[in-house]
Amino acid sequence: MTSTARHYDAIVIGAGSGGVRAARIAASLGAHVAIVEERFFGGTCVNVGCVPKKMFAYAAGLQDNFTLAADYGLSVGKVALDWDVLRDNKTREIERLNGIYRQLLEKAGVVIVEGSAQITGPGTVQVGELQLTAPRILIATGGTPFLPDIPGRDLALISDNLFYLPQLPERVAVVGGGYIATEFAGILNGLGASVTQLYRGDQILRGFDDDIRNHVAEQMQQQGVRLTLDTDVTRIEAVGEGRRLHLSNGETLEVDAVFYATGRTPKVAGLFAAGAAPALTEQGAVVVNAEFETSVPGLFAVGDVIDRVQLTPVALAEGMWWARQQFGNQRDVPPPSYENIPTAVFSHPPIGTVGLTEADARARHANVKIYRSSFRPLKYTLGNQQHRTLMKLVIDADSDKVLGLHVSGDDAAEIVQGFAVAVVMGATKADFDRTIGIHPTSAEEFVTMR
Ligand code: FAD
Ligand code: NDP
Repeated sequence: MTSTARHYDAIVIGAGSGGVRAARIAASLGAHVAIVEERFFGGTCVNVGCVPKKMFAYAAGLQDNFTLAADYGLSVGKVALDWDVLRDNKTREIERLNGIYRQLLEKAGVVIVEGSAQITGPGTVQVGELQLTAPRILIATGGTPFLPDIPGRDLALISDNLFYLPQLPERVAVVGGGYIATEFAGILNGLGASVTQLYRGDQILRGFDDDIRNHVAEQMQQQGVRLTLDTDVTRIEAVGEGRRLHLSNGETLEVDAVFYATGRTPKVAGLFAAGAAPALTEQGAVVVNAEFETSVPGLFAVGDVIDRVQLTPVALAEGMWWARQQFGNQRDVPPPSYENIPTAVFSHPPIGTVGLTEADARARHANVKIYRSSFRPLKYTLGNQQHRTLMKLVIDADSDKVLGLHVSGDDAAEIVQGFAVAVVMGATKADFDRTIGIHPTSAEEFVTMR
C-alpha cells in the first residue's frame, strides 16, 4: 500500500486487462483511485493467457520453420527443444511485464492494495484488515477455468498449468474444442508432444465459420494432432504418474497429462459478503446495464466477469469507456460496440476473423454471396510442406456490404486486424475491388477475389 488514505473516488477490484485500463484512465482524469489485486498485475492475459500463450505458439511454429529452412537450402542441424529454457525465459519476461504494469499504475497515481477484496456493502470494500470506501466500485475480477464435474476431475490440468510444467509431457490429451483447447493442441503438438484433442461436438471451434473450422481441423490433423470428435471424457483415473481417460465411446486413452479447456466462468467466489451481491446470471456473471452499472447503484463491472465477450481488447475498451464516462467529459460517446469484433485463434494454422460467418449471414440476409480462396502460400512452394491458407469473404448481395471476412493460415491475425477497420466502416465488395493489392502476399487475395 503506497498511501494510508482509505477513501477514494473509485476502487477497482482486479488489476487485469479491464481493471488496469480503467484505473489508469480514471487516475489520469484526476480521480483518486485504488486498485486491489490478489494474484498478479496484468491479470490473466499477461500472466497465464494471451502473452505467454503467444510465446509458446511462436516456439511451436518455429519448429516448422526449421523444416522450411532446409527446403530453402539452409542447414540447421538437429533441432531439439529445451523446455526449461523456453519456460524460464517466458517466466522472466512475464515477471518483467508484471513490474511494468505495477509501475504504470504507480506512475498514473493509482494506489495499489495487494490482497483479496470483498465487497461488504454499498461503496465499501474489505481487504484483510483494511476497509476502503468509494462512491464508485468497479469489479474487474475476470474469470476462472470451468471443469465439468466428472470423477477424477482433480487429476486434470488447466491452462495456467501449461506455463509452469516441470517438463513437457510426451502424451497429452486436450479436452475441449474452443479457443484454448485448439491453441494448446497446436502448441503441444508443435513442441513435440503426441496430442489427442477430445471434443464433444462434431467439429471444433463452434461459432466460427464452418469452412474455417474444417480447414483448421484438417490442417491440424495433417500436422499430427489426433482429433477425436463426438467424444467426451466420463472419468479420469491415475495410472502411476499417468492418466487413463474413460471416454463416452467406451474406449480408454492413456496419457501423461490431460488439459481441460472447457470454458471459463466469472470469478465472483468470495467477492460479496452476505447481502452485498448485485444481480448475477445463472452462470454467475455480474449483470450490468449499458453503462456497466450493476443492480447496486455505484457498483460497476467490466471484462470477463460480465461474460459478454471474453477477450482482452474488449475488457480494455469497456474499462476505458467506463473511466471516461465517470471521470471525463465524453458523456455522449456511445459504449463499445459488440458488433464486428475481430478475433484470432492462435492455433496452427491460426485463424483471423471479423463479422458474420456464412451460416449467420444466411440466417440474417436473403442474398448472400461467398468468395473463397484456398491456396498453398508462396513460402511453402519450395518444399514438401502442405500448409494451406483459406480465405473467405461473406457479402450481402443486396447492399454489396462485406458482412464477414475469415482467414486461416499464416499471419491470419495480422491480416484481419487491418481489414477489420474496413468492415467496421461498412466497406463494400466494390471498395475491396478498387483497392490495389500488395504483391506477392496472401492478404492481396481479399482484394482480388472475383
Ligand atoms: P483478468 O485479466 O482475468 O483480471 C482479473 C484480475 O482480478 C486478476 O489479476 C485476478 O487475480 C484479480 N482478482 C480476481 N478476484 C479478485 C479479488 N477478489 N480481489 C482482488 N483481485 C482479484 N484474449 C485475447 O484477446 N487474446 C488472446 O490471445 C487470449 N488468450 C488467452 C489465453 C488463455 C490461456 C486464457 C485463459 C485467456 C486468454 N484470453 C485472450 C482472454 C483474456 O485473457 C481475458 O479476456 C482478459 O484477461 C479479461 O480481462 P479482465 O480484466 O476481465 O480479467
Ligand atoms: P471456449 O468457450 O472457447 O470453449 C470451451 C469449449 O469447451 C467448447 O468447445 C465447449 O464445447 C467445451 N465445453 C464446455 N462445457 C463442456 C463440458 N461440460 N464438457 C465438455 N466440453 C465442454 O472457452 P476456452 O476455455 O477455450 O476459452 C475461454 C475464453 O477465453 C474464450 O471463449 C475466449 O473468449 C478467450 N480466449 C481467447 C483467445 C484468443 O483471443 N486467441 C485464446 C484463449 C482464450 P461446445 O462448443 O460444444 O459448447
